[in-house]
Amino acid sequence: MAFQLPNLPYAYDALEPHIDARTMEIHHTKHHNGYTTKLNAAIDGSDLASQSIEEILKNMDMDNKALRNNGGGYYNHVLFWEIMSPDGGGNPEGDLAAAINESFGSFDNFKEQFSSAAGTRFGSGWAWLCVHPGGKLDICSTPNQDNPLMPGVGCGGYPILGIDVWEHAYYLHYQNRRPDYIKEFYSVINWNKVAENFAANK
Ligand code: MN
Repeated sequence: MAFQLPNLPYAYDALEPHIDARTMEIHHTKHHNGYTTKLNAAIDGSDLASQSIEEILKNMDMDNKALRNNGGGYYNHVLFWEIMSPDGGGNPEGDLAAAINESFGSFDNFKEQFSSAAGTRFGSGWAWLCVHPGGKLDICSTPNQDNPLMPGVGCGGYPILGIDVWEHAYYLHYQNRRPDYIKEFYSVINWNKVAENFAANK
């Protein structure tokens, strides 16, 4: 069965002023749609067509560029839309907040390290918050559309939060000011969804 481009759980303008409507629309209808179409083309007629996207990522042949770029691109954006919300922002709560404090010392320290990972990613890529079995959290960054679930990316753990730092994610509104985009991203993080991802994969 072919993978489907999911609908956004909110309107294109719902994340304004932090992320503008035009960026969201192009990002979803052009970029994510493109990854979805090309992922389906890459798995068409092969055994991979019956696998989940997580299985495909975990068993990725990293030399298969079409599958790696578009499988990652498909999965990464599905996660990205879900972990943002117009009702987002604020602080994590409960078990997730405790794990962040335990792993990073404080929420402020977490933000500093996550912003640094996102800000120092050279060129295109992502920064991730990952959970390891037992609940330990980790921050890392991957290039292009790589994902922590892929073998040998040097990240590890299960991604529960990610920020897209490709220029297509922010350039229309922020131009080259990636640090401003990263700062505003905290205003739209859906911590309830991140907490769900944490609980399901710790
Ligand atoms: Mn993107």
